[in-house]
Amino acid sequence: MKIVQCWDDGVLDDIRLIEILRRHGAKASFNLNLGTQPPQRKASWKYREVKEVWKLGKDELREVYAGFTIANHSARHLRLTEVPHAAAVEDVRVGRELLEQHFGCAVTGFAYPCGLFNPEVEEIIAETGHLYGRTTKNVACAFPPERPMAFHANCHFAAADFWDRFDLAKAEKHPVFYFWGHSYEMIEDAQWAAMDAKIARLSTDPDCEWADLPELFAGTVR
Ligand SMILES: [Zn+2]
Repeated sequence: MKIVQCWDDGVLDDIRLIEILRRHGAKASFNLNLGTQPPQRKASWKYREVKEVWKLGKDELREVYAGFTIANHSARHLRLTEVPHAAAVEDVRVGRELLEQHFGCAVTGFAYPCGLFNPEVEEIIAETGHLYGRTTKNVACAFPPERPMAFHANCHFAAADFWDRFDLAKAEKHPVFYFWGHSYEMIEDAQWAAMDAKIARLSTDPDCEWADLPELFAGTVR
C-alpha cells in the first residue's frame, strides 16, 4: 500500500515535522500559499488560544522543504467558494505560478483553503493545470477518487481511529492510504512523540511504501 501525506500553510512547526520525516525516510507534500508568506518568519495567529503559530519566512522555504513535494494552497488562502469567480481564478493561478518560480519545479497538486470547494471551484483547479484538489473530507477509500478535483484523504493525522482506518485500508487491499493535517496542531511534546511513532510504524511496515501525491495520478498506482 502506498502511503501519502500532506501538510498545509507553511508554518514553523513544519521544521520539527520534517526532522521526523527525514529521519524515517518519509515522503510528504507541503501545501503553501506564497502570497501570505512573510519575508522572514513571523508570529501570525493563535491556535486554540494557546499556541502562537509562526509562518515561515520566504527566505527559508527552499531550504526547509528541500526534497519534499510542494503543492498549491492558493496565493492568499482565499475562501474560494465565497469570492467572485475572477478572484478565485486569480488566487489559484497566481498561487501556482509563484510556487513554480520560487521553487523552480512543477507544481501540480492543490489543497483547498479551509477545505472549501464546489463544482465551480473544482473546474478552476482543473483548468489551471492541477492533477488533484484535496479537500478536508475523510473517506474509507481515498484512491482512486471519483473526481480528482474532489480528492478526499482517509483521515486527519490526529484522528482517534487513525489505525482502524489504516488497518481497514490494508485489509481491503486499497492501493493508497492518505492522511493530512497542520503541524501547528501538535502542541504538547506527547503529540510530537506520537507523530514520531506513527511515522516510524508506517516506515517499517513491510506492506507499505511512501509515495508522492503527483505519482498517484501518473497512472502507475492502481
Ligand atoms: Zn490552509
